[in-house]
Amino acid sequence: MNNRQQMEALLKPLLLPTVEMTYSPDKDLSAVEASVSSYFGGRPYIEDGESWPECKECHQAMEFVFQMNLQELPQPISKELQNFEFDLFAFYVCRACEYWPPFYELRTYRSDSKKISKLTTRPRLFPRFNIEMKSKLSLPDWDGIDELSDEIPSLSEESNSEEPWELFEVCSERLVQQSDPPENWFGVVGGYPNWIQGDETPICNKCGKSMKLFFELGNVEEANLTWMDFLSAIYLFYCPEHFEEQELVLQST
Ligand SMILES: [Zn+2]
Ligand SMILES: [Zn+2]
Repeated sequence: MNNRQQMEALLKPLLLPTVEMTYSPDKDLSAVEASVSSYFGGRPYIEDGESWPECKECHQAMEFVFQMNLQELPQPISKELQNFEFDLFAFYVCRACEYWPPFYELRTYRSDSKKISKLTTRPRLFPRFNIEMKSKLSLPDWDGIDELSDEIPSLSEESNSEEPWELFEVCSERLVQQSDPPENWFGVVGGYPNWIQGDETPICNKCGKSMKLFFELGNVEEANLTWMDFLSAIYLFYCPEHFEEQELVLQST
């Protein structure tokens, strides 16, 4: 086996399914009402009797960012995502009190409950955008690979000591068939995070294991949805055994 084949053999067991999300403005004007599908902006799914999420810090109404019906996710998705007790979630943040990462709330539902509220009184913060989802494969970044394997970084360094990441990157791009992210890239669900500033995977407070990426969202300037200036992204992590343990990470250039 040459170096390349050896590297690919080491990387293959690390492959994880991920779902790439892209957005497009919703042209259907009747889509202003909340529904149980996946979209961002517009009005969220809220059930009768449920209150609008409020920020714990500044007590202002939070902003609705996006919601997702997990049944709409293309296959394959990771086992952990299939095992949730909910199949619909809505994600809200507060950008008013300028905490970074922002305070957030994740509301979870069973989408078959059909208890959707007719009284969504909050105005839409920005128009609704459709989310398109595409199944892909993902691999960890070079930065953080040494957490997962000793052999991968040493083999890569051996093959090019000047640019020790080169072999790793060539092989992982081939395995995940990566191309540059599309212009209307919105984020990913599941898989490995695309770090901007290096690995910051949180540890679960209850069991001490590394948390899993639930979703990662980038900036959508078209919708005035930016986390920080320049390139930035938020990453929501969870523990598969303790779902209540979540952590939001923010990175920016
Ligand atoms: Zn706040
Ligand atoms: Zn845990």
